[in-house]
Amino acid sequence: MTPAPITINVDGKDYQVDPNQQLVDALNTIGIFTPTFCYHPDLKVAGNCRICLVETEGPRGFALGISCHIRPSPGMKVRTQLGSENVQKARKGVMEFLLVNHPLDCPICDKAGECTLQEHYMTSGRHESRLDDEAGKVYKGGADHRFTDAKGQDRGGKKIDLGPTVVLDQERCILCDRCVRFMRDVAGDEQLYLAGRGDRAYITTFPGKELTHDYDLNVTDICPVGALTGKHFRFQQRVWMLKKVESIAPDDSLGANLTIEYNNGKVWRLMPRRNPAVNKAWIANGTRLLYQTLDQNRLIDGRVAGQPVAIGAALAAAGKALAGAKRVAIVASGHLTTEDNAAALAFAESLGAKAEVFGGSWLAAGKADGIARSGDPVANRKGMQLLGIADNLDALAARAGEFDTLLVLGHDLYGANAAKAAALTAIPTRIVLASWNDATVAHSTIAVGVRCWAEVRGSMVNCHGRVQLLNACPVVAAAEIEPVWQVLTRLATFAGKPIPWLSEVDAWKSAVARVPQFSGMSYRSIGPMGALIVETPAATPVAAGA
Ligand code: SF4
Repeated sequence: MTPAPITINVDGKDYQVDPNQQLVDALNTIGIFTPTFCYHPDLKVAGNCRICLVETEGPRGFALGISCHIRPSPGMKVRTQLGSENVQKARKGVMEFLLVNHPLDCPICDKAGECTLQEHYMTSGRHESRLDDEAGKVYKGGADHRFTDAKGQDRGGKKIDLGPTVVLDQERCILCDRCVRFMRDVAGDEQLYLAGRGDRAYITTFPGKELTHDYDLNVTDICPVGALTGKHFRFQQRVWMLKKVESIAPDDSLGANLTIEYNNGKVWRLMPRRNPAVNKAWIANGTRLLYQTLDQNRLIDGRVAGQPVAIGAALAAAGKALAGAKRVAIVASGHLTTEDNAAALAFAESLGAKAEVFGGSWLAAGKADGIARSGDPVANRKGMQLLGIADNLDALAARAGEFDTLLVLGHDLYGANAAKAAALTAIPTRIVLASWNDATVAHSTIAVGVRCWAEVRGSMVNCHGRVQLLNACPVVAAAEIEPVWQVLTRLATFAGKPIPWLSEVDAWKSAVARVPQFSGMSYRSIGPMGALIVETPAATPVAAGA
């Protein structure tokens, strides 16, 4: 239950705040920007950077305290940088200490543009330098990696290979300890630690060990400076050039929230998008690196009898085959959006009694990791079930002889389980709509390239019943390829019973009409954080003649 708001006084004005928030979050919520380095809403409070200092009133008057460590209490009086010179001076002091030995390599630092040290210098820093040029800087770094630069200066460790994914620049570290807390408290594997003491302390791995964990790239996101960077993104793009689209992870049924970041016709990275109800601020390395598959081995044209053809020719061949078919098995997919699967049902209806819809997956499900993965690789399994599509691929394999035409939607059945899928080869006409040139395309008689998860707008329902939106990144593998729902509307036209949908919104409305749990939901009401369905008894699975 949400607690009742309490009133606190900030800089002489009363505000209602959530008593369960840390004061730093409460201040940011009411619009008073409060800088942080070590604080992170999804990590334990450490309180070691001191940049979030404010004054609160106690028995002996106002005194400085760190707002990340303070919970608001009724009637609390707070002074911030807006109402206290002491707070301003204290923060400038903190910034001066943080910057005095920080290297000035922003022009070549990957974090430039999203570095909180840069940002907080502008809002809270001391802008007149007191640095003595003669004294120079004292760079941090462990003895193993120190070196002498071209000017003869002793330097801390740079470009230290921590393991398969992450590179460390010890000089840039501001000892915020976020990476250590992430590995210890979130990943549950303490692979990083702070060695040394005082201003000589530095981040490192344990002797002889590497940083290697399925979630270790998250330390590069939460590192507030450029000390930890991911090998996959180092020196690829300046971050201020990147444009962002909000979407969700397509490889797991938790549906971790993420952004697709692109520039110059290429997707350069996927980043976690914070959603406290789903994945907090974390995504698995495997999800993060999926962007590398977006322009590899894509099916951007069609195939007829194994030969490459234009998309239009493949569509015409598929439409003709479906129109002339006697019994059609349509395989819907939990890897596709709810809109695509609603289109599968509508398409089956357009074909009439000769069509039957199947669903499910032959991919093995693992265990939830308690961070950002449920372990089920079928991202929209729940959405498929809500539409009443049964988990019955084994039944399809057993009854393959009943059908003369197979239509597989966005599923690599042969890649998931070649032994089981082999039974489907008994169906003479095998049509597949696929985003990648995969094993199922190789076993098809007709294949049509379609857009993949990053290129479509639509929705998926995560394993906890949260409807979440995918948005289309403008970078697509080929301009001619279309989302599955749209290709199905074209095929329905060939079959003589058009589906009059103009956009994915029409497909969503069709899903809402079929699923009582979606009632009243729109893309607007789902929003960027998703919306929970109201659970009702499960719909009857579509069995035959859908
Ligand atoms: S490496 Fe980055 S995250 Fe880790 S302590 Fe240093 S500044 Fe903080």
